[in-house]
Amino acid sequence: MTGGVLRILTCGSVDDGKSTLIGRLLYDSKLLYDDQLATLERESKPGRTPDYSLLLDGLTAEREQGITIDVAYRYFTTGRRRFIVADTPGHEQYTRNMATGASTSEVAIILVDARKGLLTQTLRHSYITDMFGVRHAVLAINKMDLVDYAHSAFDAISAAYRSAVETLGFESVHCIPVSALHGENLTERSALMPWFDGSYLLEHLESIDVAGDREGLPFRLPVQLVNRPDPDFRGYSGTIASGAIAVNDTVIVSPAQRTTRVERIATADGDMPGARAGDAVTLTLADEIDITRGDVISEAGNGAGVSDQFRAHLLWMDAEPMLPGRSYEIKIGTQSTTASISDIRHKINIDNWERIAAKTLTLNEIGVCNVSLDRAVAYDPYRDNRETGGFILIDRYTKRTVAAGTIAFGLRRATNITLQALDVDKAARARIKNQNPCVLWFTGLSGSGKSTIANRVESELHALGYHTHILDGDNVRHGLNKDLGFTDADRVENIRRISEVSKLFVEAGLIVLVSFISPFRSEREMARRMMEDGEFIEIFVDTPLALCEARDPKGLYEKARAGEIANFTGIDSPYEPPVDPELRLETAELSVEESASALVRYIRERGII
Ligand code: ADP
Repeated sequence: MTGGVLRILTCGSVDDGKSTLIGRLLYDSKLLYDDQLATLERESKPGRTPDYSLLLDGLTAEREQGITIDVAYRYFTTGRRRFIVADTPGHEQYTRNMATGASTSEVAIILVDARKGLLTQTLRHSYITDMFGVRHAVLAINKMDLVDYAHSAFDAISAAYRSAVETLGFESVHCIPVSALHGENLTERSALMPWFDGSYLLEHLESIDVAGDREGLPFRLPVQLVNRPDPDFRGYSGTIASGAIAVNDTVIVSPAQRTTRVERIATADGDMPGARAGDAVTLTLADEIDITRGDVISEAGNGAGVSDQFRAHLLWMDAEPMLPGRSYEIKIGTQSTTASISDIRHKINIDNWERIAAKTLTLNEIGVCNVSLDRAVAYDPYRDNRETGGFILIDRYTKRTVAAGTIAFGLRRATNITLQALDVDKAARARIKNQNPCVLWFTGLSGSGKSTIANRVESELHALGYHTHILDGDNVRHGLNKDLGFTDADRVENIRRISEVSKLFVEAGLIVLVSFISPFRSEREMARRMMEDGEFIEIFVDTPLALCEARDPKGLYEKARAGEIANFTGIDSPYEPPVDPELRLETAELSVEESASALVRYIRERGII
């Protein structure tokens, strides 16, 4: 007995016959609703075989373009099982849709044309379905009518496919010769292909066993909500992602790794002795543990992993390329924090699965990366659990989802490196200097006056007996960052290193003046987040481009205009002004001395000196 719902993803290219296949499956199973049948009769051309694809192409735009543009979900039921079909387009520009469909599907039907055999997109579709956790592949070798139902054509393609996908993680690969148009081997065994002794499509879909895939896994409840209607009740609500739980079971709460017992399992239908994957529950626990949204409650002894660094597959979905080191918002299960790509191991040519060295990922590219988070989270490898192993990255400013990722494994480094506890700490170092360490971060266009003002401020502070240090863009680029250029990726890395160094100087108890164009908001935000509250003071040296260009202290604008310098901020590389800086210095109005005094006054008011 298989039962349950089977989620199917269909992939194929425009003319592979995907919609016809699914439409035919529904039609032959007598599963169409009356209004759908009416549509079929009305819209098909008189005297011709009905166009079954009309049953699927629900979206007008899609029909006009002749391609499916979104993920369309179809539902049908046979005597043995319920099915949900995610129909996604096969074109490369719809990789994102396919990933979305794949991430919730258990089976993928991948169509190929018997006349053409495996194409690059067959490999692409297989790779993506595997990456997003589909464990069962069905290769529907379609249009067998056009190759005279030849056994040899089927054998050649299925053998090639099996050997091609050997390195992927599919648990089952089933190849079926079909004719979607004529309904051969879809809902009953084809008399035209007596040589085929495997199960026909519907037979296979009805019998494939996926129940164990989810329920056999260890218990995981990602906490969606801490439910505290009154002081006497504290429950943790969410939908069970995998496994089963019973009252009195011992559980472990991650990432805090606290163990306790389940006291009650409350559901919409009242208290239950147990619950399993897919159930929405509220658990109460025997011990008072500080649990917040995003924590994961697991089976004790088989708990979720905890790490702040992962090796992951990443599908880049944004037109703006990925910038290693830039901080993105990450959502993993119900947890949400910030993350950056610390290393791209390689990207993958998904048309042939070759690994290629890469520094960035662009739209629809897939890479294997190290991802580091700013705190440890509970996770599972995606292969073991899609809900706790999958994540998305969101651009912090545009709020666009820029990537979907799947965790391969946690990087042990995160647990191996424990910070050395030191007796003399930042506060102690600061105390003997009689100051509060901080970073004065000057940002602005080249020539806006950052270095000049910073220099002046440092002189004033020094004269007053304070301990300072300056990090200046040009100087650092001669030493620590001499391997970096001016591409967006290098600028991000430049700022990351500067931020780390500033943090060390702040630890040393110093007032650090950082003078870098630092054109990107997200990098300045990253620097800010690395410091403690109040330690990061962003100073926007706000000088109009025309004035900077007129000053041109280093002659750089002239060179940039002459095309001798590429990626020059303000000319052919963007500058993102701060939205809410601690201090804005408009140097068109203020002299160097006035700007410097305004800043010294500000840090005095803030109690830094
Ligand atoms: P940045 O470090 O931002 O690239 P610099 O400090 O090197 O800029 O260059 C700014 C130039 O503008 C210097 O030559 C400085 O003397 C001149 N300048 C003129 N007026 C001002 C002002 N009000 N504030 C800051 N700099 C000014």
